[in-house]
Amino acid sequence: MTTSEQLFEKAKTIIPGGVNSPVRAFRSVGGTPLFIKSAKGPYVYDEDGNRYVELINSWGPMILGHAFEPVEKAVRDAIQHSFSFGAPTRKEVEMAELIISMVPSVEKVRMVNSGTEATMAAIRVARGFTGRDKMIKFEGCYHGHGDSFLIAAGSGAMTMGIPDSPGVTKATAADTLTAPYNDLAAVERLFDSNHNQIAAVILEPVVGNMGCVLPEPGFLEGVRDLCTSHGAVLIFDEVMTGFRLAKGGAQERFGITPDLTTMGKIIGGGMPVGAYGGRAEIMDIVAPAGPVYQAGTLSGNPIAMSAGLAMLHHLNDHPDVYTRLDEVGGRLAAGFREGFVKAGLNFTINQIGSMFTPFMTERTVTNFSDAKTCDVSMFGRYFHAMLKRGVYLAPSQFESLFVSVALTDELIGQVIQAHAESLTEAI
Ligand code: PMP
Repeated sequence: MTTSEQLFEKAKTIIPGGVNSPVRAFRSVGGTPLFIKSAKGPYVYDEDGNRYVELINSWGPMILGHAFEPVEKAVRDAIQHSFSFGAPTRKEVEMAELIISMVPSVEKVRMVNSGTEATMAAIRVARGFTGRDKMIKFEGCYHGHGDSFLIAAGSGAMTMGIPDSPGVTKATAADTLTAPYNDLAAVERLFDSNHNQIAAVILEPVVGNMGCVLPEPGFLEGVRDLCTSHGAVLIFDEVMTGFRLAKGGAQERFGITPDLTTMGKIIGGGMPVGAYGGRAEIMDIVAPAGPVYQAGTLSGNPIAMSAGLAMLHHLNDHPDVYTRLDEVGGRLAAGFREGFVKAGLNFTINQIGSMFTPFMTERTVTNFSDAKTCDVSMFGRYFHAMLKRGVYLAPSQFESLFVSVALTDELIGQVIQAHAESLTEAI
């Protein structure tokens, strides 16, 4: 038995499913999750001493590679002054200023501790601001585990939400309307049939959570216009895309300004951080400035703020990071595409900047139904073949891969080679 196997056996007896977040359990690819001991730059090391090239990077945050020195130093410096005060600090002011300077839609911002907290708060604020109850989300988009977001429409875009998870009440689900991603007409129909009832539309401006799916030309603009004309709050969930697709996120890259933006992952440099922000007029209804309640004992935590500040300062001061991320993502996608062709497979790769997904399907993937046509058992075999060759992918077909600037040209070549070999093994 490997050390990871031993730890997993024990973990399963004392932690539900053996993990503290479900995808980590390798359920969809089979086998035993690697228990990670450490990571540096482009590599993670497991408890058995194996080294892997990283293509997940903690599901996003490690955009500069693991244990990036300026972030590490900021944390070391910060811990000398105690770890939490539950009182305002200078660093929170600095953080708010920096976020506002980087993210186009943000005029005021509140720090929280996770992406889930950010989206839960944003939707409450949108409801408080508009005095309306319903919201629209897109099939296959993930916005954290808040009750209102754990809804998928099945194939019916126009139907009332059905709870996806036991424990989400029917009443909550009924306020979440769903549409297929990239289907503007479906959104329009929902607005028409729920006149003056829709508080917000929330979306991932590039989806990471059904695999990487790009907005089709005109989609984001169309949703923006519909929200404006119907008086609904447009929320961009940039937990994945924020500070990744550009320093100002997808909204900068596509030139579309939402009313509220939710952030996480990169913003904490690997520490548990989230944030939501947007138009001052809307954010000013948040307590204690206004009546919409939202709070957090550890929110704005000084260690987390220090890590996040070091990360964001670096990104803000080094625009070349984004050029390199585009280059790394582009090369990997091209190499993977070539691998598919050589293996005689007409499979799809979606990529933008440092996000990409090889989909084991011949369908063009523009929404969740397309993504679901993938051969997931082939993906499982491919995943393990990659792992065997020292490449650590997200353990599910329905995730985006995230690359970091720590990936050298040599490593990119190795990953592309592993992809070609793994396909042959997985077919
Ligand atoms: N929104 C998006 C777009 C996400 O990808 C995630 C997590 N992957 C979340 C929200 C939830 O963030 P967290 O896991 O930090 O709660």
